[in-house]
This record gives sequence, structure tokens and C-alpha cells, in this order.
Amino acid sequence: MRDSLAGELADVVGRAHVITDRDRLATFETDWTGRFQGTAAMVVRPGSTDEVSGVLTRCKAQGVGVVTQGGNTGLVGGGVPRPDGDAPVVLSTIRLDELGGVDCDAMQVTAGAGVTLAAWQAQARDAGLDAPVDFASRESATIGGAVATNAGGSRVVRFGTMRSQVVGIEAVLADGSVVGSLSGLAKETAGIHWPSLLAGSEGTLAVVAAARLRLVPWYRRTATALVAVDDIAAAVSLLAYVRARLDSLDSIELVLPAAMALVAEHLGADVPVGDSGAYVLVECAAHDDPVDELAAAIESSGAVLDAAVSAEGPRRDHLVAFRDRITESIAAAGVPLKLDVAVPVSRLDELVRRATATVDELGGRLIAFGHLAEGNLHLNVLGAGDAEAITDTVLRTATELGGTISAEHGIGIAKAPWLGLVRSAADLAAARAVRDAFDPQRMLNAGVLET
Ligand SMILES: Cc1cc2nc3c(=O)[nH]c(=O)nc-3n(C[C@H](O)[C@H](O)[C@H](O)COP(=O)(O)OP(=O)(O)OC[C@H]3O[C@@H](n4cnc5c(N)ncnc54)[C@H](O)[C@@H]3O)c2cc1C
Repeated sequence: MRDSLAGELADVVGRAHVITDRDRLATFETDWTGRFQGTAAMVVRPGSTDEVSGVLTRCKAQGVGVVTQGGNTGLVGGGVPRPDGDAPVVLSTIRLDELGGVDCDAMQVTAGAGVTLAAWQAQARDAGLDAPVDFASRESATIGGAVATNAGGSRVVRFGTMRSQVVGIEAVLADGSVVGSLSGLAKETAGIHWPSLLAGSEGTLAVVAAARLRLVPWYRRTATALVAVDDIAAAVSLLAYVRARLDSLDSIELVLPAAMALVAEHLGADVPVGDSGAYVLVECAAHDDPVDELAAAIESSGAVLDAAVSAEGPRRDHLVAFRDRITESIAAAGVPLKLDVAVPVSRLDELVRRATATVDELGGRLIAFGHLAEGNLHLNVLGAGDAEAITDTVLRTATELGGTISAEHGIGIAKAPWLGLVRSAADLAAARAVRDAFDPQRMLNAGVLET
């Protein structure tokens, strides 16, 4: 079966783009964290929407499952083969890398699913505009992956998540049919809105082949403050204060002391501000230099123990590294248990207290940081003693505090057993019915978003 399918897929995409060699398959079989791993029957790399359609039609005819993979930077095991079950075909979007010219009138661009966030940003900036979404895996993470996970990142406070940036989509269903439109109309009310349906569906309803994306003004003048505050409550006060005053606020991130110590060690640098109970990285971007208004807001907030403020340049890049390189420094220290949760900002303090107590009891080292405005914390546990029990307790805690078990990374396979904490039985039944309608055989990303 494998040989005949490989032959059929080679007819669709060309022999060079069907990979069956075990050594070459390895990088597609393990996720970025190293926690999730399975066996692929083969990897196929379609180069157009028609080829994606051809691949899915052939796989469906042979009853072989498909796992879609973009940059493989996902953190919940959704983009690699499951550890159990039949080996699927991994559909890599890497060759769907066409990036159209920027439409400056509409402030939009069309990008293939395999275009990276960094390429999207560079294309926009070449035209004097900018991409509204940014996060640390930008050089590898793809448009298709960001749409599928409804990715967030540091600029959500200003521009919203990936879902808000997609004004058109072209996607291929499990039976090979192509749906959606890339016309990019800002207003259209004509039944199902494909971007809304597919953003956040984690590759379970369709393979995204291309997207029409919103662009935003490029605020070239930036300023950054790394601020030491007493504790999380003081960080939340600072959030409210600067949000109400700074039109140019572009991101506001929370870093707790263990994360700050780890990234400092990884960078081989001293933390630029004094010891404290919490750190906040505030970034402003504007057409005119925002450094003075940022410094003034920080100073007048009354919440600050110590601060380092810088306009753009090497000093600012240095400050940003203390947030941007945390995930990388955690990965360098070991294979972490990663929990991406959100709670109302007023409950962040309690979330951290209870998560700390859980990890102290069950074993491990908690490294916490996140996106302050959305109450979104990344709770990473290095050397997790009882990973299952820690996950269970922390996800239940977040839910009890009025939050969610996944803010931006998605459910994948990692959190599928806990989906019932945030979705009612009726929600889950309706979601199953939608999936049944699109993909009754569960050809696409089986095991993701449901158990
Ligand atoms: C250092 C680091 C920092 C990160 N920071 C953030 C952050 O701040 N915010 C954030 O949201 N995430 C963050 N992430 C997580 C990750 O980068 C995002 O989830 C990203 O959107 C995944 O994109 P990808 O192309 O790597 O997708 P993959 O990992 O390849 O896939 C992720 C999921 O999307 C599906 N998928 C991929 N492409 C398609 C497609 N074309 N059609 C349908 N389904 C598809 C996959 O099947 C899988 O379920 C970070 C990761 C790392 C390693």
C-alpha cells in the first residue's frame, strides 16, 4: 500500500517531493519540544492548491490519514504523527510559499500557507506597511500554522489574534474539494465565512492552502521598557495604567523571576534591572519616537521599583531578548511540560500561587511568563515529576478561575482529554457534528481536538 500510494502521490507532486527515506522523515516526526513523536508513512510536499487537492483525494481513496505540518513549531503535538495508530502521510506545506505583491490600497497581501511570519513581515515592510502578528518562532512558523492555531503573540493587545487578520482563505477539504476565496472583501455577508470557521480549527476541517491577510501601518519608531515591579498585582496595575495612557502601546509582557533568571543565564548577561517579584516588558511603536512618552508613563505609574528604557538600537534589542528568547532558553534546559492558559488578569496572581504550590508538591521547576494584557501565562515545568497530575491540576485551576486551558497554542493532542473543562457536552457534540460533516473518516489530524 505504501509503495502504491507513494507512486500515486509522486504523480501529483513529482518524485522529489515524496519522502520515504527513514532518515529524512525523522525531522517531520518529532515536534519542536521533543515531547511528541510518531511514525510517518511518508512526507509529501505539494506546491499548489491543486496539488494539495490531488494529495488528499489519493490519500482518501486509500484510507490513509493525513497530518498537516507547517513550520513544526506548534507546542501541543498537533502537527506530527500520533504515537499510536496507523502511520499517516505528513503533508508539509513548505512549498506553498508564494507571496503576492502588497495591495497598498486595500492594505492586504496574499500568502501561501507555507510562507513564514518573518517573510510576511518583510514583504509588508518592503511596501511601507507591517504584519500585525509577531512571535519568537517567526522564522519558521507559517501562515497556515498560525491560522490553524489562531496564533497570538506579543501584538495581540494592539491588533488581536491571527483570526482577526484573515480576510480571505483558500482551503482544501478532506475529499479534495477547494473552498473559500482570496478576494479579500472587507465586508461580505453571504453565509459561511470560511476564515472564521477555519481559524483555530487546528487542521481538523481542512488544509489551508493560502490566505489573504490584513496589513497594518508600519510604526517604525519603537521604544522598550523593562520594568521591575513588586509582584503580579503591581504588574496588573501597571498594565491598566499604561493601557489607558499610551496610544502607541504595542506589547506588554510578563516575566516571572525564574524565567528571568533562566533567560539571563542562557544569554550570559545580567538582568538589566534589579531583583523583583515580577518583570514587565512594555513596548511602544509609533510614527514619531515614543521613548519619552513611554518613560513618562512608566515613571508616573507609581508601580515601578526599577526600569531600563531604550529607544530602538542595540540596547533595545538587548532588552527585548529577555522576553523573546525565553522559550529557547527553556528548550536548552530540557524537555518541558508546557501549559498555555489564560485567566482574567485579576486572577493571574492566584493562578501563579496555585500553580507554584502544585509544582512544588508534584515535582519540577516552574518557569512562567506570558502575555499580560490577555492574562495569558505560559507555565513551563522543567523536570516535571508527575506531568499528568500537574497538567490536570493546573488546567482545572485555570478553569476554576474563569479562564481557559489554551490561550494561543491550541488543544492539539496534548490537551484533548481536558477539552470538556471549557466546552459543554452540547458544544462538543456540535463540534463533532461539524467535523463529521467535513471529514467523517477523520482523515485530517485524527486525535487533534478530540479524544
Ligand atoms: C520559540 C517559540 C515561540 C512561540 N511563541 C508563540 C506565541 O507567542 N504565540 C503563539 O500563538 N504561538 C507561539 N508559538 C507556537 C507556534 O509557533 C505557533 O502555534 C505557530 O502558529 C505554529 O505554526 P507552524 O507553521 O509551526 O505550525 P505547525 O507546528 O506545523 O502546526 C501547528 C498546527 O497547525 C496545523 N497546521 C499547520 N499548517 C496548516 C495548514 N496549512 N492547514 C491546516 N492546518 C495546519 C497542524 O496540523 C498543527 O495542528 C511559539 C513556538 C515557539 C517554538
